[in-house]
Amino acid sequence: MITRHFAISVTSPGAILRRERDLGTTLGMETEEISKHGGLVSDDIIVHLIEDWLNLHGQDGFVFDGFPRTLNQAQRLDGLLQNRQTSVDLALWLEVSEGTVRDRIASRLQCRRCGFTTSLTSASFADRAICPYCDGPLIRRDDDDASVLETRLAEFKSKTEPLLSYYEKNGALHRIDGNRDRDAVFAEVAGLIEEGAK
Ligand SMILES: [Zn+2]
Repeated sequence: MITRHFAISVTSPGAILRRERDLGTTLGMETEEISKHGGLVSDDIIVHLIEDWLNLHGQDGFVFDGFPRTLNQAQRLDGLLQNRQTSVDLALWLEVSEGTVRDRIASRLQCRRCGFTTSLTSASFADRAICPYCDGPLIRRDDDDASVLETRLAEFKSKTEPLLSYYEKNGALHRIDGNRDRDAVFAEVAGLIEEGAK
């Protein structure tokens, strides 16, 4: 939604890794095993992929979705950005309850080709699970199982929550109530990006 609205490049480590996997690279195969079991791919690999991506797409502003996820990743991102004479303008923290997380994951469909995400409950995709943007197949992601979710929630608490105080300290942090519907969340995110772009 951000790419279409603002023409800003957006990526996530998940999207980059799925592409590696679909291309059948060694990295793609190795990291698929790790994420299948709910583990996090190492910071070294993630930061390296992000750096490559920045070199290709990072000229006119960019948004990362699901990155950084650890304090180490955040510090290394700051290093990468310093080399480019820029810094993190905005760190958006989407706060969602555990119940919301469980509901959303249980009904999530994702385009295998472009990463577009929608929900099983979205009526327009019920009979025809085809991506509206690229005609790719919409599938349930196989890392969405319950036990994987428990591991992810634990990793989130121990590794990702420390980022709150990191970005609070440098003034970039904005908390957003993510328990609302997609349009309400997007409107708030869009407002913050517009403000930040001024
Ligand atoms: Zn697609």
